[in-house]
Amino acid sequence: MQKKISRIGVLTSGGDAPGMNAAVRAVVRTGIYHGLDVFGIMRGYQGLMEDDIYQMEGRSVANIIQRGGTILKTARCKEFYTPEGRKKAYEILKQRGIEGLVVIGGDGSFRGAVAFSQEYDIPVIGIAGTIDKDIYGTDFTIGFDTAVNTAVEAIDKIRDTADAHDRLFIVEVMGRDAGYIALHSGIATGAENILVPERKTDLKDIINSLQEKERRKKLVNIIVVAEGDEYGGAQNVANLLKEHLPKAEARVCILGHIQRGGAPSCLDRLIASRMGYHAVECLIEGKFNVFVGILNNKMNYVPLENVGKKKGTISEEWMKIVKILAS
Ligand code: ADP
Repeated sequence: MQKKISRIGVLTSGGDAPGMNAAVRAVVRTGIYHGLDVFGIMRGYQGLMEDDIYQMEGRSVANIIQRGGTILKTARCKEFYTPEGRKKAYEILKQRGIEGLVVIGGDGSFRGAVAFSQEYDIPVIGIAGTIDKDIYGTDFTIGFDTAVNTAVEAIDKIRDTADAHDRLFIVEVMGRDAGYIALHSGIATGAENILVPERKTDLKDIINSLQEKERRKKLVNIIVVAEGDEYGGAQNVANLLKEHLPKAEARVCILGHIQRGGAPSCLDRLIASRMGYHAVECLIEGKFNVFVGILNNKMNYVPLENVGKKKGTISEEWMKIVKILAS
């Protein structure tokens, strides 16, 4: 018979994502609804090892659903990669009587959770919070929708100025390993080309198509590049293109960290609320060491140890759509 959990902790870890606050709020309020004691752990695994922990009430999470960032702060923590670091974390949880953990973060944070849950009898539930949307087993990750909308807004503005001057813009969006922000924002803004880490780029083809557009006097072109594309980002792509298109007025714009900030979109607030609620239900029902995803509009509970075993792909169909619509 499973021991009933009465004290849980929640932390946000790794890269921040808009909507993390909405998830924290849902975890705290659902926990309190079920009569649990809920503890907020500051700065991810770092704060856990340092016992930077405080008890949360329903009011502790008032007025945060609309705020970007995370009230619990986030951090990257080298020590947690080591068994000694994780032992420290376990001892803190034991001392405080915390019996279950909700980790809101990306695949790195989940890998940390797997290492921890394999060594110690503290169940961990993951909530997919990452702007990169690169976690297999869920259609949504918290923060992606907001980030991609920020990118769309920025690229729309860039198109106005590109159009005024007949310029070629190479816009870099976030995504070291995943091209979803580039793909979605690129399609939504009518980009002429989209470069993503998941697929090889035919630079010759891009050059040919730009030269052909030059002949047709279509000089306004936007190429969206994920920061982790094979050429190493927008500046490198621009340098290569300029060699072959000496007449093109090419400009580079790197959107950077604005993609992480801002008020979460309605969609991100919704999925964060739903995932936070179900994460606590998992702990209560004994569905341990899974992450909470949403697949085909149903909750999907994926064993944490499966995270990273399968990668999302960007289909040929999407790339074909980009090409046809941008002609
Ligand atoms: P994200 O969760 O956004 O992918 P990171 O990859 O930086 O971010 O991971 C966040 C933290 O999770 C790391 O700083 C580290 O403390 C912990 N972590 C990541 N991978 C592991 C691992 N293999 N073993 C133990 N801890 C890990």
